[in-house]
Amino acid sequence: MHVHLHDEKSFCHTLKLERKAGVVKIVVSCLDPPDGIYKPTPEQFRKNNKRVHEWMKREQGFVEGWVYVNPEYKKESLDEIERAVNEYGMIGIKLECGCVCTDPQYRPILEKAESLALPILQHTWFKATGCIPGESIPSDIAVSAKTFPNVTLIMAHMGGDWQRGIKAVRSLSNVLVDTSGSIVDCGMIETAVKELGAGRILFGTDLPDIDFWSNLGKIEGAEISQKQKRSILYENAARLFGGTSG
Ligand SMILES: [Zn+2]
Repeated sequence: MHVHLHDEKSFCHTLKLERKAGVVKIVVSCLDPPDGIYKPTPEQFRKNNKRVHEWMKREQGFVEGWVYVNPEYKKESLDEIERAVNEYGMIGIKLECGCVCTDPQYRPILEKAESLALPILQHTWFKATGCIPGESIPSDIAVSAKTFPNVTLIMAHMGGDWQRGIKAVRSLSNVLVDTSGSIVDCGMIETAVKELGAGRILFGTDLPDIDFWSNLGKIEGAEISQKQKRSILYENAARLFGGTSG
């Protein structure tokens, strides 16, 4: 549920890898071009979402889409979310570093997510060395989740600093976490299962930027039950995105 579309070549490789591993569905966002990753203009995010939609049509049933917007452009972002849901059939909102998720500019996006019952996948990364401008940290997610208890917020990468991340959102049942990214610390998945419950953890990779197999290995190799692995790898996402589980 955390895949990116960059260029065609790397995306074809992503599709090949995911299928080889037995993945049945991927949820994709496009944050390109490189200069538009964090603060895309409406023109850039419209183009990017359209590219995801092209792949949704090409790989029907396998590729689903996150609509990527920038809260700094209120009207354009809200219009794009409507378009993405109604015309493209996208199933959630992806936000990166347009603004911190406690910023008042973010509020209309949360309201829209609530009214359309869409989950938000929010990039989150606590950095001891300082964040990228507009980057959210786990305590920001907690503030937004408390203000909007009916919105499902997915804290990507478990917040980067996963110990801090888990602690910050533990009491907030509307916050899920994803396992994607470069962190492969010992005990990460086991702690998340113990503190949050397997039902709040989603398997993600962050392909094509991060290695697929180490991300899958985090779950497969974790000292948790088969049932908990199944929840993380399949059932939670199926439930969240309205698919069938079983
Ligand atoms: Zn990502």
